[in-house]
Formats: sequence, C-alpha cells, structure tokens
Amino acid sequence: MTHVLIIGAGIIGAALAERLAATDHVTVVDEGPPGDGTTGTSLAWINANKTPDPDYFRFRVQAMRAWAETAARMGHPPWYVPTGDLAWARTPTARSELSTRVRHLKERGYAADLLTADEARAIEPHLAIPADALVAHFPDERHVHGARAARDFIARARRAKAHMVTGRVESLDIHAGRVRGARLADGAISADITVCAAGWRTPELLATADAVAPIQDPHRPGAPAVCLVATTTPAPGALRGLVHGTDLYARPTADGGLLLEAGDIDAAVDLDTPRSVLDSWADDLMARARAILPSALDHSRVAAVRRCIRPLPDDGLPVVGWVLPGLYTAVTHSGITLAPHLAALIAEELTSPTPAAPLEPYRPHRPGSPT
Ligand SMILES: Cc1cc2nc3c(=O)[nH]c(=O)nc-3n(C[C@H](O)[C@H](O)[C@H](O)COP(=O)(O)OP(=O)(O)OC[C@H]3O[C@@H](n4cnc5c(N)ncnc54)[C@H](O)[C@@H]3O)c2cc1C
Repeated sequence: MTHVLIIGAGIIGAALAERLAATDHVTVVDEGPPGDGTTGTSLAWINANKTPDPDYFRFRVQAMRAWAETAARMGHPPWYVPTGDLAWARTPTARSELSTRVRHLKERGYAADLLTADEARAIEPHLAIPADALVAHFPDERHVHGARAARDFIARARRAKAHMVTGRVESLDIHAGRVRGARLADGAISADITVCAAGWRTPELLATADAVAPIQDPHRPGAPAVCLVATTTPAPGALRGLVHGTDLYARPTADGGLLLEAGDIDAAVDLDTPRSVLDSWADDLMARARAILPSALDHSRVAAVRRCIRPLPDDGLPVVGWVLPGLYTAVTHSGITLAPHLAALIAEELTSPTPAAPLEPYRPHRPGSPT
C-alpha cells in the first residue's frame, strides 16, 4: 500500500485525505486543528460566477457538481448550505456589468436570473435592497462552513484508518533526489508520496526542497492576498444565504451569526495594518450590514475580526501536480469551490499511472511559471 503524507488539513488536504483513505495508507499533518487556516476564514462561496476563461469556467462548473455529489454521498451535512446567492448593483456601470454577466452565464447554461424586488424579498425577507438596485439570483451556487467541512472530511478519513498528526513541518525530507516525507521538530514522517497542501504557506515548504510555487507573497506592502473578515454574534434568521451587496458580502455562520467581508476593505488591509485599524474596519463592516438588514442586527455586534491570507497563484489558476519526484502540490485560490473536484482528480492520478487530463492546464511547471 502506498503511504501518502498530506501536509495541511485545510479544505484541500482534508478533502484529499477523505478520498485517499479508502485505498491508501494516509497520514495528515497540520500544526493546528483541521480547517483552522484560510479555510476557516473563507467566504466559502461555491461558484463559477466571475470566470471569463471558458476552460476554467467548465472546470469550476464540474467542481460545483462534485460538491453536490460529495454532499449527497456524505448524507447532506449541515455545513453544506444549498441556498444560492443574491447580488445587486446600483450605479449604471455596476448594473450594466451585472446584467451582462447574468446574460453571459445564462448563455453558458448556468442558472442566473434577474429578479423583481418582490422575488428577492421572498428569498431574503429581512434584506433592504435599495429600490433602484438591479438584483440577480444564482440559485445553484452554494456556500459551506469551511472549518466544519474540513473537520468532517478528516473525521471520515480517520474512520477509514488515516492518521492525523499535530505538528509543524519544518522541512521536506530529500534522499537521492526524491522527497521521502517531512521533518517535524520532534522527528520525521517518511512517505512514498508527500502532498503539500499547505495553502499560502506552500512556498516556504517547497523552498526547503529548492522548489518554488508561483504563489503571491503576502508580505509585500498592499498584498492583495491579505484580507479581513468579521463575524457577528448570533443574529437568528437575519440571512438565509449568501449575498453580494454593493459594498458588502455576507453569509450566515455555522453558529447563527454572519460573516462579513468587503472588496474595498480587503484592498486596504495588509500584514502591517495595525490591530486598531482592523477593528475600525470591522465596525465599518457591521455598519454596512446594519444598512442592508435594518432591524435584524439590533441585538448583534462584532464577535471576531480576523486578518486572513488567500493562497493567490500568480496567474489566478490552481497549481496542482508533481513538483519533484515524490512531491506533489495542490494550492489554489477558490480552494473551497474546487476542493472535492480536485480531491477526486488528484486521488485518481496518485493511484494510477495515467495523469488526470482535466488537471493539465494547472500544472506547477506550466509556461510562465517560475518552477
Ligand atoms: C476572506 C476570504 C474569502 C474567500 N472566499 C472564497 C470563496 O468565496 N470561494 C472560494 O472557493 N474560495 C474562497 N477563498 C479562498 C479559499 O478559502 C482558499 O482557497 C482555501 O480555503 C484554501 O484551502 P487550503 O486547504 O489550500 O489552505 P488552508 O485552509 O490555509 O490550509 C492549509 C493548512 O496547512 C497547515 N500548514 C501550513 N504550513 C504548515 C506547516 N509548515 N506545518 C504544518 N501545517 C502547516 C495550516 O495550518 C493549514 O491548516 C477565500 C479566502 C479568504 C481568505
């Protein structure tokens, strides 16, 4: 039996562990609890909504189907939330972008509709969408509670005899030009195949084997990989599903509050932004949420503010495949959308001599990549 070591129990590593555990000897190592990295801070919108590249669009649509199949196979877990997405726009430019996007998506066979105010109210009764807004609905889109999903995948992998090790990997272990596992502070784990699924920290691990991953450096001032989310205390029934307003994205959290994010605030945050500024941005997010949910948040306040880091490949596309003999990597933005689909394809190519054709455009050594 092949021993596969997966570094990282975020959504990518966890979904892969669940897939592989039935056939292989799997060890997962993470320095923290499953899903506690980027996965646990994600808006976690499962979609192919803003994807002009036709091949990547199809890949993401397949990923949406893979989620539906995975959720059905797992008995429709409560952390998979099939409530769709409402979006609205007000300025002439934004209205035109939204109506064009809906038209193009419909032409590609994607479920997308423009709604009347009454239709939108029937979906989200507490939402005060401005009267002059153009509203769109994407009924096949979903969201997940990322940390719970990762924990559930890992629990299932463990039931299939996978091992979970808590510890920080300090370096990859190389002998005779082949990666043969990883070194932790208190020992080594040897493996036939090592999969680096360490999210935005993948480059630092690959560097220990003199390999590079084309992932943006979050330490640069103003790095787009760095963003901010706030969560609220419980606000029962405030929102049923995910919404994209003009200056706020929001969705329910697993414990009955809301998760709040905004593109302009993400753009204003980096790793040097002081805590006091992060807190004031969180208050701003809360004010925006109150504006669209006027009475539903009367008894709610900001519960937590988290600076978070997206794994952002340089060209925006997933980075998936062999990096060195014995070393495979899987790192991507939209990792929530893609995880079950990637897990199925990666499991297929790790357990057979034939590469998975749908992954070919996303190889680490593709043209333009520094690897
Ligand atoms: C605010 C925000 C909004 C987002 N919105 C969406 C969205 O709407 N839809 C979507 O699809 N995607 C979205 N994303 C992106 C998505 O969340 C990520 O692509 C995905 O969560 C990445 O998962 P991962 O498993 O690769 O990484 P992670 O979840 O970061 O997991 C990596 C794991 O590796 C572990 N690790 C790292 N280095 C080591 C080491 N040396 N030793 C031991 N363990 C290590 C970490 O502890 C971590 O648990 C969003 C991200 C953010 C931050």
